[in-house]
Amino acid sequence: MDWDSFARWGAKISDWGAGYHRGLRDLPVRASTRPGSVAAGLPQVPPETPESMESVFADFERIVMPGMTHWQHPRFFAYFPANATPPSMLAEFLATTVAAQCMLWQTSPAATEMETVMMDWLRQSVGLPEGFKGVIQDSASSATLAAVLVMRERALDWAGNQKGLTGQPRLRVYASNEVHTSVDRAIWIAGIGAENLVRIPTQGPLRAMDPAALDAAIRADRAAGYRPAGVVACTGGTGTGACDDISAVVAVARAHGLYTHVDAAWAGSAMICTEFRNLWSGVEGADSIVFNPHKWLGVQFDCAAHFLRDPAPLVRTLAIRPEYLRTHGADGIINYSEWSVPLGRRFRALKIWFVLRHYGLEGLRQRIRNHVLWSQALAAQIGADPRFEIVTEPVLSLFTFRLKGADDAAQQAFVNRINDDGRIYLTQTRVADGVVIRFQAGQFDATEADVMMTYEVISDLAGAA
Ligand SMILES: *Cc1c(COP(=O)(O)O)cnc(C)c1O
Repeated sequence: MDWDSFARWGAKISDWGAGYHRGLRDLPVRASTRPGSVAAGLPQVPPETPESMESVFADFERIVMPGMTHWQHPRFFAYFPANATPPSMLAEFLATTVAAQCMLWQTSPAATEMETVMMDWLRQSVGLPEGFKGVIQDSASSATLAAVLVMRERALDWAGNQKGLTGQPRLRVYASNEVHTSVDRAIWIAGIGAENLVRIPTQGPLRAMDPAALDAAIRADRAAGYRPAGVVACTGGTGTGACDDISAVVAVARAHGLYTHVDAAWAGSAMICTEFRNLWSGVEGADSIVFNPHKWLGVQFDCAAHFLRDPAPLVRTLAIRPEYLRTHGADGIINYSEWSVPLGRRFRALKIWFVLRHYGLEGLRQRIRNHVLWSQALAAQIGADPRFEIVTEPVLSLFTFRLKGADDAAQQAFVNRINDDGRIYLTQTRVADGVVIRFQAGQFDATEADVMMTYEVISDLAGAA
């Protein structure tokens, strides 16, 4: 492709993108594609001869787009948001065009230094104390894996990478049942083993792990010859937004010399608003914290902000050349590939810069505050209708509800009817082993009317049971 064609197609695609976003409200949120139908529309063998961009693009519209679920739809209330704001998309286009591989300072000084400064902007934005250093990981799952690997190496006096785990003491990591499944997978991948992820019971309206039970579990494990390594706490668990009491968890972990990682993948973005910081009070005592600007801050996927009280244990765990530690950061040179599992890195800091400058923190706070306010209003309206009951009260903009007096199959059928209708999209989760309907608001273009339409939809469809 010559560069004139590239420029023409670039302009055409940005026009297409603007039109797509303008028209999103009129599309059903979730794809109603049958499994296999997209694959059936694609040739089974690759082309031997060149095809025109016209025909590639026409097939994109014809085959791909009908098979997309619209994550940027203002009435996407499922899972968590994955906001891609226009300034973020523009920054991604630039990063994609320059296409640097940013593994070392030397391979992309601007990307490295931008990352250092942007992570410090984010640190200040969410109120973490000076001294915390940040790195952008591709996902919260990767950050949690990195933190669990540090727990392992620290607890084994840095012998795990060299000697393997055979013959080593059995490590233990502690978390509640409310943490994301990325914690389970980190435990598997780190070789610690699912049996050594100790589940601590939860209590209270925020379903926080019981610190006394955590303390007792660590003591019992030590007495039984296990080696406790770390605690994974959550702020805003995926199912219902559970929040551990970070101060209490950190106090117990510290008393036992354990490493603490806080997974705030979704809720962390809300900490740009000081009034929500009580949800993670004590976080400054944690060793490692992750949140995803790619969820609720308008910085599109992928962008996970990973903060470390001290990056040295992480670098010691993941750097291939440990002698590098001696000059680590001292000369202003940081090689972020030594802070993460993958070697190669994209230029992700650019979109943080664009988004923060375009909206300003005040613009971002306003959106998050609205989402929280509107979700609470919606929960109040649903709770006041005798056909429904709120199961878990809003944590920020996330709550769960159900049809009163209906069994699991009926709740699931209700969710399916709602999503087939197309006006909104949400998911189910389980609370105390029963199916409930889960709602969160967080899409940046959502209005109060979009959020409140949820009541209209569930009200229309509840009767159809
Ligand atoms: C979304 C989420 C994750 C996973 O995030 P990825 O960036 O997709 O790995 C982990 N923990 C919590 C609490 C989440 O909400």
